[in-house]
Amino acid sequence: MPEFEYRVLRRRGEPDLRSLDSYRRNLAGYSAIEKAISEQTPDQVISQVIDAKLRGRGGAGRLAGEKWLIVRQYESDQKYVICNAYDADPRSWAARSMLERNPHQVIEGILLAAYAVGASEAYLFTRSFFTEGIASVQQALSEALDANLVGRDILGTEFSCTINVVGVDIGFMGGEETVQIALIKGRRGMPEQRPPFPAQYGLWDKPTAINCIETLANVPVIVRNGAQAFTSVGTATTGGTKVLTVYDYVHVLDKSALYSEPKVVEVPFGATLREILRHAGIARVEGDLGAIVVGGAEGGALPTSALDTPFDYDPIEEAGAIVGSGVVELLPANTCMVGWAMDRTRYLSDESCGKCVPCRLGVKRMAGLLEGIISDLGKSDDLNVLDEFASYVPNGSLCGFGVQAPNAYKTAKRYWPDHFKMHMEEQQCPTGTCVPVRAHRYVTKHVLP
Ligand code: SF4
Repeated sequence: MPEFEYRVLRRRGEPDLRSLDSYRRNLAGYSAIEKAISEQTPDQVISQVIDAKLRGRGGAGRLAGEKWLIVRQYESDQKYVICNAYDADPRSWAARSMLERNPHQVIEGILLAAYAVGASEAYLFTRSFFTEGIASVQQALSEALDANLVGRDILGTEFSCTINVVGVDIGFMGGEETVQIALIKGRRGMPEQRPPFPAQYGLWDKPTAINCIETLANVPVIVRNGAQAFTSVGTATTGGTKVLTVYDYVHVLDKSALYSEPKVVEVPFGATLREILRHAGIARVEGDLGAIVVGGAEGGALPTSALDTPFDYDPIEEAGAIVGSGVVELLPANTCMVGWAMDRTRYLSDESCGKCVPCRLGVKRMAGLLEGIISDLGKSDDLNVLDEFASYVPNGSLCGFGVQAPNAYKTAKRYWPDHFKMHMEEQQCPTGTCVPVRAHRYVTKHVLP
């Protein structure tokens, strides 16, 4: 099992970092914020974060420091930081693991972001059912407040920052940044049109830096050790590590245990998928493995020939998947990929907020067409209609959800065309696992004239 350096997660057997004392003793905790506010200007902190090639871990992969620069440069009497600890894909264990096991590092990352952009108020936005994580971070906040590490005039300086914890659960859409802003304001959570972007016009119409919890938890490591040390791990374009949640449905004994406890690992960007699986303790994959799904609910399925793909934003996207939520799933060899694509698309159709037509109706129609194909009611033209939806939905959608929603269909068709062919031409499931779900065809029209 390859040993990788862990920077934001704690492994079994490593010291418990939940108390302030332990975080200070074992990780030089809060030395980064002390160093920043006593020795560095906010611009210097931002430069280090840019030099460290810290890309947003929430999915889009934009350089965190560049986003901070926009917030920093925008004139305003008040600015905010939002730490996205929501885990839109409920099968991702990244945010809850960091909140539960390393809350002080998350708080220190939020403080550094606030110092860098000039914010004095921050929100930690999470899922209300992460009860252990919320308890752990609230305990850590109370300790940090008593030690004058959070609140007014931190460590006797002019830098002040309060941190509020907000817990909600509105399904997948709660992970979207403009939805979080609306919910903090007490409004209905629906994505908003951009531009203007939250970096200029965010919470209460003020410049707001919204970063994923994992992005922020990496910032103390950068400030403490320097950008060069940070980029000693990673690739030429992406510095550092990524937290992944690995579900092995190939070797699990109880096949119905789809929500069984996964393996949560931290791997360097650039490690191949094969190395990642080995690190997660899954040594033998070929033969039993049908597909590896990378990116969670909105990710794409890759064949075993892609196991040597390096894990980084660009190579993973070129292969058809996304870094996304960091959920990686192993599907057994007897998985019908048409059936898998149908399940995924149905799930996404249910989770769409419905605000814009291409996503609300397009994803639903894609699911309907796939239901027809697995029920052996498919017609040769169905794939043309599905292809049109797969390009129309991302192009016409308001938020990233719609942009990624067709990935399941697109990758299933790209890598397993024979599965579609067999269902449509021979009216048979290639693995004998699909159960018909429709008695009649789902009738829809071409989208484009
Ligand atoms: S793309 Fe989908 S999830 Fe996003 S705003 Fe439109 S309907 Fe809602």
